[in-house]
Amino acid sequence: MHSHHLEQRAEIGVIGGSGLYALLDQVTEITVGTPYGAPSDSLFLGEIAGRSVAFLPRHGRGHKLPPHRINYRANLWALHALGVRQVVAPCAVGGLRPEYGPGTLLVPDQFVDRTSGRVQTFYDGLPLPDGTVPEVVHVSAADPYCPVGRAAALAAARDQDWPPMDGGTLVVIEGPRFSTRAESRWFTANGWSVVGMTGHPEAVLARELGLCYTSLALVTDLDAGVETGEGVTHAEVLAVFARNVDRLRGVLFKAVEALPATRDCICSHALDGVATGLPGF
Ligand SMILES: [Zn+2]
Repeated sequence: MHSHHLEQRAEIGVIGGSGLYALLDQVTEITVGTPYGAPSDSLFLGEIAGRSVAFLPRHGRGHKLPPHRINYRANLWALHALGVRQVVAPCAVGGLRPEYGPGTLLVPDQFVDRTSGRVQTFYDGLPLPDGTVPEVVHVSAADPYCPVGRAAALAAARDQDWPPMDGGTLVVIEGPRFSTRAESRWFTANGWSVVGMTGHPEAVLARELGLCYTSLALVTDLDAGVETGEGVTHAEVLAVFARNVDRLRGVLFKAVEALPATRDCICSHALDGVATGLPGF
C-alpha cells in the first residue's frame, strides 16, 4: 500500500463493474499496491448509506482482463489492506436450469471449482517480496459464503421486488470460452445451478483473509446445454447485464446498508488461533 494512501479506509468492498458505483456522489480514486502485484484497477472509495465502500472493477476499466488473468490475490489483499472486512461480489453467470433464465438473481451457497492453473491461496509457503514467509494454513471452505451477507443480499432483493433464488451451486469454469453442450449438461445433471468464471478463487481467497464474501449471481443467459439456439454469445451476456444493472445496483446498495457493523460469522472466525505469517495480520 502506498504510504500517502494510508489514511484511506473502507469497511465494505464491492468487486464488480463500473456501472455499480458510477452514480455515487463522491468517489475517490486511489491506487493500492500489494505484495502480489497490482489489483485489476484503481480502487474507488465512496459511501453508501453512511457505510464506507471500496469498489474494484474486477476486469479493470474497459474490461481488459479475462477471468483467468485477474490477479485475485492482489484484489483481495488490496481490499483487506484498506480495512475492508466484508465483500459483496456481483457476477454474471449462465443458468443451468430452464427456470433460471436471463434476469434471474441467485445468491449461491456453494461452488464447484472447474478452473485450472489459477493461484488460489495466500498460504503457498513462498516468501513475499519483504522476506516474510506465510505459514501453511488450511481454511475451511465447507460453507464458502458468508451466511450473514447472504441473508442481507436475499432480503435486499426481496425488498426491491426481485425475488432471488436462495442458495444453489455456482460452477466456476476456467474460460474464457463458454461451456460445450456436453459440459453444460453434465453440470446440470450434477444438480448444479449456474456457471461463471470468476467465483473461484475469489471466494476462497476472501476466506483465507478472514473476510466475509457474498456472491450476487445475475443470470445473463441459459448455458449451452439448456438453451435451444446457437449457444451463448458475449454480446448477449453484455446486453442482459446492461438491462439489469440498475436493479442489481439497487440490491447491492440495500445489501451494503444491511451488513452488520461488527461481525460474528464463520468468516470472521476463519483465522481464530491461526498464526498466518502474513504481514499485517
Ligand atoms: Zn461473514
